[in-house]
Amino acid sequence: MTALTLRLGISRCLLGDEVRFDGGHKRDGFLTDVLGQYVEWVSVCPEVEAGLGTPREAMRLVGDAHHPRLVTIKSGTDHTGTVKKKTENRLKELEELDLSGYVFKKGSPSCGIERVRIYNEQGIPNRNGVGLFARAFMEHFPLIPIEEEGRLCDAPLRENFIERVFCYHRWQDLMRKGATAKRLVQFHTIHKYLLLSHSPQQSQVLGQLIGQATQCPPKELASRYGELFMKTLAMKATVRKHVNVLQHILGYFKNQLGPQEKTELLAVISDYHRGLTPLVVPLTLIKHYIQIFDVCYMRDQVYLNPHPKELMLRNHV
Ligand code: SF4
Repeated sequence: MTALTLRLGISRCLLGDEVRFDGGHKRDGFLTDVLGQYVEWVSVCPEVEAGLGTPREAMRLVGDAHHPRLVTIKSGTDHTGTVKKKTENRLKELEELDLSGYVFKKGSPSCGIERVRIYNEQGIPNRNGVGLFARAFMEHFPLIPIEEEGRLCDAPLRENFIERVFCYHRWQDLMRKGATAKRLVQFHTIHKYLLLSHSPQQSQVLGQLIGQATQCPPKELASRYGELFMKTLAMKATVRKHVNVLQHILGYFKNQLGPQEKTELLAVISDYHRGLTPLVVPLTLIKHYIQIFDVCYMRDQVYLNPHPKELMLRNHV
């Protein structure tokens, strides 16, 4: 079976296509030049695809936050129905493409995933709206990791999003091969320390769920596990949680280390804990020992290599 291509959806203007209302674009260099080397982009501009043309009159959301309308600012033309209809069809097309994530343009009345301006009858904005297309996408694909390009400037958010993308991609691959009890146990085993870095509690719940692998129909178990797995990864991995994981890993081969090596490793973990070094430093030393002592169980842990090292995401968290 050939490997699944890692495909991400993206608001088209972020790729540099001139599809914005003013005929411009919002090209994002990190997405196009860096992340773009590892993924295949599937670009969508809901407004252009709805036939609104470029350039076009600027629009905004008006009315109720849960059921807003997409209306042009000057002439008051209501495009809600047109964009919603096209969105419905587009989401069905996207189902076929097995997207592993989506990067949305922030603040857009079509693509923003949060804090989009929504205007009341008096013309006063409130930042509690969600873009029409983004809302429909999130409802249609609740498990797919999503993020806005603006938030990807924040190193921990960027690392978390890309980690979730690669994890979801592996999950999709497992679903494609077919969920069996054995495969689900293997999947959970290699993600154990990664899950621990997000939530020790949820990691335990997932472990208990997998403990029922032989008693529960695999399809039912996979559906419950997949949802909780993605929710757990969306929880913030803090320095304290990472230190906990590093100490757990160290426990696996501490008896093989000499006193000097152990002191050195503990000092490196402590430096990370105190904010003196990024996560990549203790991890590099730990990976070195895992290699030297041939610690098989640890070698396969996704926690050690959750995304391509060339992205250098753990040099900044
Ligand atoms: S934000 Fe969305 S609707 Fe606006 S130009 Fe970009 S892709 Fe098109």
